[in-house]
Amino acid sequence: MGCRISSLASGLLAVALAAGCPVASAQSATGATPSPGAQPLDAIPYSPSLDLTDLDRSVDPCQDFYRFSCGGWQKNNPIPADQASWSVYAKLANENQQFLWGILRDSAMAKDRTPVQQKIGDYFAACMDTAAIDRLGFDPLKPGLARANELTTRAKLIAAIAGIHHELPGTYFFSSGTDQDAVDSNTMIAVVDAGGVGLPDRDYYLKTDAKSVQIRQQYVAYIVKLLGMIGEPETSAKADADSVFRIETALARASLSRVDRRDPHKVYHKMTVAELRGLDPAIDWPAYFAAQGAPGLQSLNVSQPEFMKAIQAELTAEPLDALRAYLRFHLATAEAPSLAMPFQQAQFDFYSTTLRGVPSMPPRWKTCTRQVDRYLGEALGQEFVRRTFSAGMKAETQKMTEQIETAMGEEIAGLDWMGPQTKQEALRKLHAIRNKIGYPETWRDYSALTIKPDDYFGNVLRASQFEDAREWRKLGKPVDRNEWGMTPPTVNAYFNPQMNDINFPAGVLQPPLYDSKLDDAPNYGNTGSTIGHELTHAFDDEGRQFDAQGNLRDWWTDADAKGFEDRIDCVRDQYAGYVIVDDIHINSKLTSGEDVADIGGTLLAYIAWKKETEAATLTSRDGFTPDQRYFIGMAQWACENNRPENLRVNALTNPHSPGFARVNGVVVNMPEFQKAFACKKGQAMVKEKVCRVW
Ligand SMILES: [Zn+2]
Repeated sequence: MGCRISSLASGLLAVALAAGCPVASAQSATGATPSPGAQPLDAIPYSPSLDLTDLDRSVDPCQDFYRFSCGGWQKNNPIPADQASWSVYAKLANENQQFLWGILRDSAMAKDRTPVQQKIGDYFAACMDTAAIDRLGFDPLKPGLARANELTTRAKLIAAIAGIHHELPGTYFFSSGTDQDAVDSNTMIAVVDAGGVGLPDRDYYLKTDAKSVQIRQQYVAYIVKLLGMIGEPETSAKADADSVFRIETALARASLSRVDRRDPHKVYHKMTVAELRGLDPAIDWPAYFAAQGAPGLQSLNVSQPEFMKAIQAELTAEPLDALRAYLRFHLATAEAPSLAMPFQQAQFDFYSTTLRGVPSMPPRWKTCTRQVDRYLGEALGQEFVRRTFSAGMKAETQKMTEQIETAMGEEIAGLDWMGPQTKQEALRKLHAIRNKIGYPETWRDYSALTIKPDDYFGNVLRASQFEDAREWRKLGKPVDRNEWGMTPPTVNAYFNPQMNDINFPAGVLQPPLYDSKLDDAPNYGNTGSTIGHELTHAFDDEGRQFDAQGNLRDWWTDADAKGFEDRIDCVRDQYAGYVIVDDIHINSKLTSGEDVADIGGTLLAYIAWKKETEAATLTSRDGFTPDQRYFIGMAQWACENNRPENLRVNALTNPHSPGFARVNGVVVNMPEFQKAFACKKGQAMVKEKVCRVW
């Protein structure tokens, strides 16, 4: 699945398995530092989709177009203390949060509330009551810890995993859930997947450079600290932390790399439950699935069989004490954000400060707004959409989407490297893509979820169980094609290859990204390029392996597949040359899907814009020609500042290239850009060998 941006969160707390792009949010930890300046907003502040104050005119656009377009923004927008990075997207997301804060505060206090307002208002109020949360210390964790301590035999411990997976937030040994069947997108299938580690990627456990070794030591220190906080004496906490880390390292070793996971064939291994039992005889799988709400399950996708063999080895060979310590730690780290301040702080210190360089915890209102968005996103989303997303905006962006689809159809029809048979299938797929704009047609029903104004931990637990049950209930039912993987306020967009749909939440169709006050040029450059980006994901190295129905099926002739791969290699070679931080280069095998989407999306939006305005007389504005305004608008979506620590995490985990490469890497491949700015051969933004896929 391809998105416009990546989550800044560690992904540690993600509930959803496989389905859904990460929702844009800041840190996984929560906290309560006062923020005297911030107030709830009654409206989202306006900023234009082309902002002259963002420019750095001392830079030649033909030498560094990103710096020319974003240098002023970078200077004027230092990274706030509670953020790992700061960007046009993050700033808008932050303003959205401030606006949602107002909605939530009103919903918490209002009389005569609708059921939706009661849920979001009470969830927010309970979350904001830090005195009550602090008073409880880690009491809410005690039933779970007692449960772990009662696992006095290996058999009891292994049998308990089923209930723990169903009832508690967190990641324990492996993960499970449901997804569309990769080869039959009309069917939901159960999935058992890799999981169970606390660092953001398996490479953290395997790399041998000094920085990686240091982070591992800091992670083990965090485990020691957390185990101490739940009552373990220091000596046993140290030994237990080593055990936890040893188990996680074994799991990491058996996991596929992120690059391998981009290949849908490598993560599709449909088998019977009996065959899964062959990999993991220690676990009573029929009982496991019955506990998840899927009794009598016959078959499933075991996405990483080698990983499941490692699970068998760990569960049978590790000392019982080590396995119990693992459960205690994962329980504590998963629930730390919902416990008293010292727990929140410990988690923040490691995941945000150590890993990403963030100095301060976010203010409490931000944490709580994010929590409501995460667990009641379509309840909060209803209130957001009602206030921010008019029918007119929906119609305008819908029209733009259709124009860009038309442009892509014409591009595909005219490709010189693709044969007629593949073209026919490609066009069939293009025409089958569903455009989802703004918000879902029907809202998710939360009425069965109990939310109380004075029970924060209980709310989190019930909401996470509600989500888990919702996930498993999908089995045996028709695929819900109206479902969204992002909430309406989210400032992001995505393509889902199995749904074969593109999704643009209302949150991403706001100024400065989509600006109905300004002319077409910057809007097509900015939001148009995003639409083109998502569309292109249907045909990137991952997306192209799915057909018009969203099934994993090879519809390419050998020659056309080779023609495509050769063109992708051109992009990979180009981006591998860019440095992210220090001496770390872009891992372009990880980012090529996004890089190709950036290049293709900008070109498609340009073509659509030209066609839309062919009869109009466009004039210069503020000293820039319409073509120049198109490209500046495009570049200004990507303005960002990053902490070096965060760039290091991104280098390992983020399938998106850094902002400068997402702008300069695109325009060097566009003669249209070079013409617009009269760039000359030999200048940095003029590449001799242009990469072009679409
Ligand atoms: Zn993308």
